[in-house]
Amino acid sequence: MTTATTSAYDQLTARLREGATYGSIGMLLSWDQETKMPPRAAGFRAEQLSAMSKLAHERLTDPALGELISACESDSEVQSDPVKAANIREARRDFDRATRLPTELVVEMTETSSRAMNAWKDARKKSDFSLFEPWLEKQVALNRRKAECYGVPEGGELYDALLEDFEPGMRTADVKKLFGPLRERLTPLIAAVVEKGPIHNDAAGRRCEIHLQQKFLEEVAGAVGYDMDGGRIDKTTHPFCESMGPSDTRITTRFDEENFLDALQTTLHEAGHAMYEQGLEKEAHFGEPRAEAVSLGIHESQSRMWENQVGRSEAFWAWALPLAQRVLRPALDDLTVAQAHAASNIVKPHFIRVESDEATYNLHIMLRFDIERLMLSGDLAVKDVPAWWNDRMKTDLGLDVKNDAQGCLQDVHWSMGAIGYFPTYTLGNLYCAQFWNAANEAMPSLMSDIAKGEFSGLLSWLRENIHKPGRTYKAPELCERVTGKPLSHEPLCEYLESKLAKIYGL
Ligand code: ZN
Repeated sequence: MTTATTSAYDQLTARLREGATYGSIGMLLSWDQETKMPPRAAGFRAEQLSAMSKLAHERLTDPALGELISACESDSEVQSDPVKAANIREARRDFDRATRLPTELVVEMTETSSRAMNAWKDARKKSDFSLFEPWLEKQVALNRRKAECYGVPEGGELYDALLEDFEPGMRTADVKKLFGPLRERLTPLIAAVVEKGPIHNDAAGRRCEIHLQQKFLEEVAGAVGYDMDGGRIDKTTHPFCESMGPSDTRITTRFDEENFLDALQTTLHEAGHAMYEQGLEKEAHFGEPRAEAVSLGIHESQSRMWENQVGRSEAFWAWALPLAQRVLRPALDDLTVAQAHAASNIVKPHFIRVESDEATYNLHIMLRFDIERLMLSGDLAVKDVPAWWNDRMKTDLGLDVKNDAQGCLQDVHWSMGAIGYFPTYTLGNLYCAQFWNAANEAMPSLMSDIAKGEFSGLLSWLRENIHKPGRTYKAPELCERVTGKPLSHEPLCEYLESKLAKIYGL
């Protein structure tokens, strides 16, 4: 019995590896599409991508996979190993979710997404919501069906079923409990900053050639611990990180000649995602849940930590400014650490989420979290989305939205059919602030190490506590294990309040 079921476990991990390998080929194709592909290849690339995703989906929903999972579930010896047990638990979860969606629904969602995305691009360009409205209507209806297929957890709501795709184990009610008090603390903080008036941006308008910025970023990314032998940095309009195999995690960034801070922050963000992927145990366990990212929120906590807690700190600038001055000479010669620090922490309400600062960003997310639930429940008609959006922007950020392009048409997510995704960004900020406190408690010299350009202590701590477990624990449990407390709004509020008080003299 033992031999037969042990081999069921080996067969299971081999199958998971095979499925993940197909997935990784799809990722390589899409990375190439975003970075190097000649424009005329687009048509056939779509065919290649859909062939790969079909293969991967067939593997994921193959009844034989379900049988192997069942065999492992009833093997007490395999179950007595906590890591193997977690692998089986997560494989079961993935299999059940994948098989709960009827094929015709999956096909309809895929087809709708590619057409909706084209409609969205056109609508955004013309700043005309009515062109996207029927597609959003359709995406909301499809998401409702998808959520019904997944099933509403006991005592939960329809939105829970969608959130589970992106932040497993987190419920809508949990998110509300976190976002409510966060909003109450952020609103007066942002109001105080706005009232104080803008601080001068001493880093703005300094012309730094792109190839020099590139050199600077490669040095910074290497110094913080992004393994460039298993990665690379390319240039795209919309930066991303893509991990396509055990030793291949690539990032992209964007450049602005007049604003070197943008490329730096973007690169640190994507490198943070990449270092998480590089810290997962993929070499030995590729395809197994234990070697996969636990949730989008945790993923985002890693990118934000390097971008914000590290990259926007005074200690970081004490190390990075001399390097930047040397490489980007002579553009930054008279810039001081205090000026660079202040310039990277300017808080200013903005129409666009992705251009927003650390504090106001979260209000953008809460808006989306609320409007998505209203659309899904039917309490808000899709045609009323722009008016609702603009009202809320006025209340929360004091901004008058002048057109749909800078309002409800700015994000790609809904066109792709991704509803339930947005909250993970702010959850990432919350996890990040809480992990950051734990890291500083564990390493009292962390800030002085950073000022010396020593980042390996932090990276090792993240590897050990957050990266290595993969999906062994759900995100809320991981948080409690690492920080001793459930996820809370407090650490992020305290972090922002104390930093902004200092910079803005509140
Ligand atoms: Zn990110």
